[in-house]
Amino acid sequence: MRGRFAPSPTGYIHLGNVWTAFLAWLQVRQQKGTLILRIEDIDEQRSKPEYTQALLEDLAWLGLDWDEGPGKGGPYGPYIQQERYSLYEKALQELQAKHLLYPCYCSRARLQAIGAPHEGEHRLYDGHCYGMPEEQRRQMDRKPSWRVHVPHVSVSFTDGSYGPFSDYLPRVCGDFVVRRADGLYAYQLAVAVDDGSMGITHVLRGRDLLSSTAQQVWLMEVLGYTPPSYTHVPMLIDASGNRLSKRQQGITVRSLRDRGVQADAILSALALAGGLVSERRLYHKGELLRLCNFQTMTTHDIVLRDTWLDELIHA
Ligand code: GLU
Ligand code: ZN
Repeated sequence: MRGRFAPSPTGYIHLGNVWTAFLAWLQVRQQKGTLILRIEDIDEQRSKPEYTQALLEDLAWLGLDWDEGPGKGGPYGPYIQQERYSLYEKALQELQAKHLLYPCYCSRARLQAIGAPHEGEHRLYDGHCYGMPEEQRRQMDRKPSWRVHVPHVSVSFTDGSYGPFSDYLPRVCGDFVVRRADGLYAYQLAVAVDDGSMGITHVLRGRDLLSSTAQQVWLMEVLGYTPPSYTHVPMLIDASGNRLSKRQQGITVRSLRDRGVQADAILSALALAGGLVSERRLYHKGELLRLCNFQTMTTHDIVLRDTWLDELIHA
């Protein structure tokens, strides 16, 4: 078994990140597998080396150790996406050779105008640039993004928490971007290549990525990889129903640590809030490993109440 935690170093890690890191750690450690830490820094504008450094420190402080990754090495490295661009380039060439890749010259305004909003910011592309004749392409005066053309098929997978899915690609993702017009590789491409080439067998991550799973499974199959099994977990939300984000500095691991909160208290509180344990008390790492039960984990979003935080701080 090979699992992974794949954070993006775009801010200090917060309780939402800890929740998924903890569960990925738990799943792998309970089954005596190998845990990989991969730094997902392909968004060059938003990623910062100091956040990578901070997240390594914060994970170590929490006691969530990894077997392969930064500081550890391993046979599937490098474990930092900015050092893996040649692999993404090769994948693009394979897609090109299979005639699945095409340039899209649409402006941001056009993309915003088409289609219904889909899962928040994500909009389905209408295929406008697919099949554009070569001579017309030559006349375009903007740099294109690159899209993959998805077939009219459904992709089936069974999620460890949310059960079976059969997602029709033209409806869940449409033709999606694998390389942006500014030259950066897209998350969907990088994650499929990395999970595939790192031999990942188990992916555990936030439910916000459930709707990306079908396209990743499809991409991995096209590229000749065996897709892993997926377990999506509920999101942590605040009392007003918003997802925790890196912009809310109050709930970062650093701020909790500075206020004297113990690492085991944070993990115990998350385990209780997520339904993995039933008794409200402080658990030590070994106990969490032994007692946490994925079968009883909630599938609803988990509300992080202020009182809950106070309890943590005064524990
Ligand atoms: N890098 C993504 C994030 O920080 C996670 C991607 C994944 O687990 O597939 O949210
Ligand atoms: Zn287009």
